[in-house]
Amino acid sequence: MITIDNYDFSGKKVLIRVDFNVPLDANFNITDDTRIISALPTINKIIEKNGSIILMSHMGRPKIGPEDKFSLRHIVKHLSEKTNKNVLFASDCIGEKVEKMAQALKPGDILLLENLRFYKEETSGNKAFAEKLAQLGDVFVNDAFGTAHRAHASTTIIAKFFRKDKMFGYLMSKELENIGNMLGKYSRPFTAILGGSKVSTKISLIENLIDKVDNMVIGGGMTYTFIKALEGSIGASLVEKDKLIMALDVMEAAKMNGVNLYLPIDSVNADKFENDANIEISKIDEVKDNWLGLDIGPETIELFSEVITKSSTILWNGPMGVFEMDNFQNGTIKIAQAIAKATSDGAFSLVGGGDSVAAVNQYKLSDKISYVSTGGGAMLEYIEGKELPGVKAITG
Ligand code: AMP
Repeated sequence: MITIDNYDFSGKKVLIRVDFNVPLDANFNITDDTRIISALPTINKIIEKNGSIILMSHMGRPKIGPEDKFSLRHIVKHLSEKTNKNVLFASDCIGEKVEKMAQALKPGDILLLENLRFYKEETSGNKAFAEKLAQLGDVFVNDAFGTAHRAHASTTIIAKFFRKDKMFGYLMSKELENIGNMLGKYSRPFTAILGGSKVSTKISLIENLIDKVDNMVIGGGMTYTFIKALEGSIGASLVEKDKLIMALDVMEAAKMNGVNLYLPIDSVNADKFENDANIEISKIDEVKDNWLGLDIGPETIELFSEVITKSSTILWNGPMGVFEMDNFQNGTIKIAQAIAKATSDGAFSLVGGGDSVAAVNQYKLSDKISYVSTGGGAMLEYIEGKELPGVKAITG
């Protein structure tokens, strides 16, 4: 397998697909540069090995054609500072002018291309567009794990134009290795903690994990669909009425596979969906009419924490409550802390998905987790057992 470490980049023009889809404020300042920082190991290594670099990325969701607010020119200064290089910028991502700029690159130079999604051909996976991008480089490196589940021109189709000279960047290989190891070489007990709003969006994840894990811990909004299916009283809590059978099927599948399925036993309830609502704690199946369960209760925290701290492998996706509101974030904090504690005692923990990653960052626990995945949708699809087109394009 060709890797960054064993490939000779000397004198080569290296086309790297990165994920520089960073958030910008109203003055186009980067508010979180994690994605840029994450790409630096790959960029720095290739520079060290005397390659010249052409960076391509998308940013935001531009509708039709170029829109200044989605221009990657806004990140050039920051990227120059982080790489200690004068980063060149091409105001397009294909065409004669870009080709000339790419041809003129010397070892160690960095050229950033304009937003790929200014062309609809990027997301439609257009072959001719991918070929034009491919012509800019001698070798293709994919380091954009977050878009690996999409067969876009720059993540998947482009790889066809590099017979052998294609490989994963460090970030992407790290993601694949960590998630792959968690699913393939885990030590037991293996506990999956799944939260978030809906059963329907987590069902494939649950199905693919049910024959692997020892414990499945369910929290968050989807709890109440399970409790409703068990004929409990859930008041006005979030429920997917058309998924009650699905919830019963999950419980049955857990039994068949010898998996301990843990549902919350108590609930923090509010009389309105607001932070300053009146709050009451009840048993999970005794939520009063018109009240909403917005977080897991103290007994549940104790139960879940005990399961977590006895685990050797832990996967966490989805908050335990409406953690965006201060009064309903306690469950999510306590579960994050239990995972951090288990990790410090030797467990392998992997946290993934936008909200859980935001939570561990917010509670300053990310360095106490074994691996925090930046993958979002790609990570979930990988854990669901789906083949990621961006991965297959490299591995064949
Ligand atoms: P997901 O994208 O499916 O992982 O869901 C994340 C969202 O679930 C967050 O915005 C939470 O506020 C929401 N959530 C978690 N627990 C609850 C709950 N008990 N009721 C309503 N929403 C919830």
